[in-house]
Amino acid sequence: MERTVEEGNKRRKEKSARRAVFLDRDGVLAEEVGHLHRVEDLKVIEGAPEALRILKELGYALIIVTNQGGIAKGMYGEEDFWNVTEELQRRLGVRFDGVYFCPHHPEGSIEHLRMECRCRKPSPGMILKACEEHKLDPGKSWLIGDHVKDIQAARRAGVWRTILVMTGYGKDMLRRYVEGEVSLTSETPHYFAQDILFAAKFIRLVEEKGDPIEVAQAQKSEVRKRAKL
Ligand SMILES: [Mg+2]
Ligand SMILES: [Zn+2]
Repeated sequence: MERTVEEGNKRRKEKSARRAVFLDRDGVLAEEVGHLHRVEDLKVIEGAPEALRILKELGYALIIVTNQGGIAKGMYGEEDFWNVTEELQRRLGVRFDGVYFCPHHPEGSIEHLRMECRCRKPSPGMILKACEEHKLDPGKSWLIGDHVKDIQAARRAGVWRTILVMTGYGKDMLRRYVEGEVSLTSETPHYFAQDILFAAKFIRLVEEKGDPIEVAQAQKSEVRKRAKL
């Protein structure tokens, strides 16, 4: 447990283990069009280039973690996935530090990809693999996603903070939380943001001012300490 907000900030900024922002692709960076696989259908979400510049400047590794079950369903191939991702990268004006995708699906039509794998979100497989391969510390990292599954995967991998954006499926996810269709558990997002640009600006604010959750915890323990005196 970190003692103060300042110590928390300092610890996360230490250079030894790298910090990352794990990013879902569709609905966060690219408009959700349903199984995006053609470059001509690619539309970058407004503000995403600036968001990634902010996160890079803060020193975060940028890692894509995306379910691509359409590959197992035979709707498109890995080649199509890479073409779209390359073009996305070009339009965003940034290099991703890692790109992880899950081509599997339990109901896929392509036999060798039809399985219950450990990478498909909400499983944490892709995030854990990225942490291992890029020497990233999930406990100092963030995830930005538009689906409950993104948040669950991150929390299962021990990612420090998660943000659900209102682009893509995000609004529907928020509705599901509000209407009680999805229960509030330890797999609920820490924060909500309008879109990835707001999320990036929020992360920058946390770097500068501290994390509201930690501030609240620190205040609580201070109150308890004083009550005992
Ligand atoms: Mg998505
Ligand atoms: Zn998989």
